[in-house]
Amino acid sequence: MLDYLVVGGGIGGVLVSALISQMNREVLLVEALDYLGGCAGTFKREGFYYNAGACTFVGAEENLPVGKIAKNLGVELPIKPIDPAMVVYIGDKVINRWKAWDRSLEEIRLAFPEFNHTRFWRRVNKVSKSMWNLWCHTLPYPSLESPIKSFFYHPFDFLSTLLCNFISAQKIARVYIGKLSSDYQSFLNHHTLITAQAFLDKVPFSVASLGLTYPNLTNYYAIGGMGKLLDAFTSKIKNISMKTKVKKIVRKPWGFEVETNKGKYETKRVILNTTIWNAGDLIEELKDFSHKARDLYKEVWGAFTIYMTLEDNIPEDLPKHHLILLKEKIPYTGSRSLFVSLSEKGDPVLSIGNTRSITISTHTKLDMWENLHPEEYEERKEKAMEYCLGIIHEYIPAIKMAKKLKVFAGTPKTFERYTGRYKGSVGGIPVIKDYFPFSYPSPLTPIEGVYLVGDTVFPGQGWPGVSMGVINLLKFIERDFKLC
Ligand SMILES: Cc1cc2nc3c(=O)[nH]c(=O)nc-3n(C[C@H](O)[C@H](O)[C@H](O)COP(=O)(O)OP(=O)(O)OC[C@H]3O[C@@H](n4cnc5c(N)ncnc54)[C@H](O)[C@@H]3O)c2cc1C
Repeated sequence: MLDYLVVGGGIGGVLVSALISQMNREVLLVEALDYLGGCAGTFKREGFYYNAGACTFVGAEENLPVGKIAKNLGVELPIKPIDPAMVVYIGDKVINRWKAWDRSLEEIRLAFPEFNHTRFWRRVNKVSKSMWNLWCHTLPYPSLESPIKSFFYHPFDFLSTLLCNFISAQKIARVYIGKLSSDYQSFLNHHTLITAQAFLDKVPFSVASLGLTYPNLTNYYAIGGMGKLLDAFTSKIKNISMKTKVKKIVRKPWGFEVETNKGKYETKRVILNTTIWNAGDLIEELKDFSHKARDLYKEVWGAFTIYMTLEDNIPEDLPKHHLILLKEKIPYTGSRSLFVSLSEKGDPVLSIGNTRSITISTHTKLDMWENLHPEEYEERKEKAMEYCLGIIHEYIPAIKMAKKLKVFAGTPKTFERYTGRYKGSVGGIPVIKDYFPFSYPSPLTPIEGVYLVGDTVFPGQGWPGVSMGVINLLKFIERDFKLC
C-alpha cells in the first residue's frame, strides 16, 4: 500500500514526488513516456536531443519557488546564468532584455524614444518586487489564512498590489504612457503572452508585472537540456516507474486502485500531474469536474514547434533566446511571434558532435489542427514550418548559414500524442482577469485523496508557476510541510 501514487512526471509530478519522498512517505511516480519532464522534457530523436517546449529557466534563487525546493531537497541544479535573458526583434528594432534594471530600461527607451515610459516601468518593477515578496505567504491558495498572513508579514506589499489584481495591465499602461504604438503594444503583449498566456488587456497588472520583469530575474541556461534539471530532482524520488501509463483509477474503501499497462497498484492518495481537463478520463467520479473545467477554461493555447539540429558554425556569443515579433500572422497558428532557443556550444547533450540543438515555438489555435485529412495536416505543417524558417533566417542570419542536419515540426496533435494533454493544449490556464484571482482552479478535487499539480492549477504555467502549485498543494495536505 502506497501513501501516494503520482500520475505523470512533468515538472509538477517530479517536484511533488521528490518533496513527498523526503517526508518519508511511500511514493511511486509513474510516467507514460520513457523520459521525464513532459512539456519541459528533453527528448531524443535519431541520435540528437531537443528540448520539447520549455527552454528558459527562472526562479532558482533561494528566495524563489524552484530555488526553495532545490535547497530544501539538497539538489544542485546543472545551470548557469545567462544575460541578456533574450533578444526581442520588432521590425528593425533589436532590444536586448538585460538583467540589470537601468541597462534594460535604457534599451527600451532607445527602441521607443517617442514615449515617456519611465514611470510605467518603475511601477512595474515595484509591483513585481512586491509580488515576489508576497508569494510564499500567498500560499495555501485559496484559503482565508493566506491574505491574512500576507498582510501580516508584508503589509506594504499586500496593500500596494491589492488593486493591481483587479485592473488590466492595459489600463495601467494607458494611464502611465498614453496611447501605445502597435510596435510597443506588441512588445508588451508578447511578454505577458509567454508568461501569463494572454495579452495586456486580459492580464491583471499584478501578474503582468511579473511577465514584464521576467528578464530582470536571473535567467539560467540548463546544461544538458531541461531534462537534466528534472534528473537532478529525480535523484531524490524513492520509486519511479517509466513507460507506465495509468489507464483507470477506482475509489476503494481503503483508498484507490490504480490500473496501469504494467499492473495494478494500491494507494491511499493520488496526485494527478495531468491537466484538470484530463482528470475525468482516469477517474469516473471526476468526469463532471473535468467537463465543467473544459467549459469554464476555454481560453487556451496550443504550440507549433520546430526542432532543428545544425552543424555548429554559429558564433559562440549569439544569445540563447530570441523573441521575434511580426506584423503578419504566421500561417495556421493565429500568432505573430516566434521564440527561438539555441543550445550552447559544446553542451554535453544538446550539442553533441559539433552540433547545436534549436527549439522554436509559437502559439497556435487548437482548432487549426483539428479534424484535418492527413494530407492537409502535413501540408499545413510544412507551410507553417517553411514560413517560420524564412522569418528566422531573416532575423538570425547565423541560423541561415548553418547546415541543417535535421528539421521537423510538432503541432498540438504531437503534444496530445506524447503528453496526453487535452486536445494538445499547452501553457496551462491563462492567468487572466476572467479567472484570476478567484476562479483559478485549486489543487483540490471533489474527491478526498485525489489532488492536482501542474500548469492547469494555481498559479499556472512554467517552472515558477508549477513549482508554486506543488508547494501550495503540500501546504493543504501535509501538515508537517514547512517550506514557506
Ligand atoms: C512550446 C512551449 C514552450 C514553453 N516554454 C517555457 C519556458 O521557456 N519556460 C518555462 O518555465 N515554461 C515554459 N513552458 C511551459 C512549461 O513547459 C509547462 O507549463 C510545464 O512544463 C508543465 O508542467 P506540468 O507539471 O503541468 O506537466 P506536463 O508537462 O503536462 O507533463 C505531464 C506528464 O504526465 C505524463 N502523463 C500524462 N498522462 C499520464 C498517464 N495517464 N499515465 C502516466 N503518465 C501520464 C505525460 O507523459 C507528461 O510527462 C513552455 C511550454 C511549451 C509547450
